[in-house]
Amino acid sequence: MNKTTMIDIGIDLGGTKMLVVLTNESGSVIARSKKPTFPEQGVEDTVARLIEMVEGLLDNVFPYREACRIRSIGVAAAGILEPASGTVVLATNLRWRNVPISSMLEERFRAPVRLLNDANAAALGEWRAGAGVGTKDMVFVTVSTGIGGGIVSGSRLILGASDSAAELGHISIDRSGPLCACGNRGCIEMYAAGHSIARIAREGIAGGLANGEAILKEAGGAAEALTAEHVAAAAIKGDKYAGSVIASAGKALGQGIVSIIHLINPKLVVIGGGVARSGRLLLEPMQKAIQEQGIPGLVGQVTVVPAMLGEDAGGVGAAMWRRYEEECLQLR
Ligand SMILES: [Zn+2]
Repeated sequence: MNKTTMIDIGIDLGGTKMLVVLTNESGSVIARSKKPTFPEQGVEDTVARLIEMVEGLLDNVFPYREACRIRSIGVAAAGILEPASGTVVLATNLRWRNVPISSMLEERFRAPVRLLNDANAAALGEWRAGAGVGTKDMVFVTVSTGIGGGIVSGSRLILGASDSAAELGHISIDRSGPLCACGNRGCIEMYAAGHSIARIAREGIAGGLANGEAILKEAGGAAEALTAEHVAAAAIKGDKYAGSVIASAGKALGQGIVSIIHLINPKLVVIGGGVARSGRLLLEPMQKAIQEQGIPGLVGQVTVVPAMLGEDAGGVGAAMWRRYEEECLQLR
């Protein structure tokens, strides 16, 4: 008799790329696919191409569709979400407003769909299948264009009253610091997010702090085109000024993360996202700030490690969501 494979599907719905993963009963990824999002082509087009991606993966792995049963679908997205109704209320990166994505996918695939915050999904992925395996208390920080995160405390992901907990990028380290889009001042996003690293480097070069030759070379000569990746690339090649910009971002991150460590006493801090690829240039100043500014008894026990799943973290976490929620119910 042929065995039916139970699968969970994880979708990471970003403004530039869509990622779909299929996981089997034991939670291992059995197939993945990544495609550009093209949000400018409209909601219907994006959803249609997303469905096509899922169908394509299913067809590849299960030429006889009866051989699999979809147990759940998790959708990770950024922006303002209404998880109870499965609606993306506002996602500027996708150009979506009030899109009932869960019911659209439920109708097509006849499986329960759970919509969740992308950073929380990535935290779940890293906790259950990446750098955080085996820990009960960890903080996940993702540093890319913006800064997000997720907190695991006592083997539970902290979601908050409206699934909006762990906005780690908006921890303030300076009440007189630059004004952030969130309304607060001196948020760590203003010093360490990708867009801030690019701005700080651009301002430094314009203000004569450095000639910026190495960074501008990475950016193809145009200061307007300069990104955090260009700064990181120049820093890795040994440019002093680029290195100092990355180090200062690392320090700001550490200063913010100290507050989370004091708050929840984690064992592990996992750093992911594109900016974290600058490796020790970012992590060492960060660790130094944590050790210097934290309560010794608390920060002394913390290990800071790089994330392991890379860009798959959100999709993997979304696929694991159903299983995680079932475990939480059993523990109750
Ligand atoms: Zn802020």
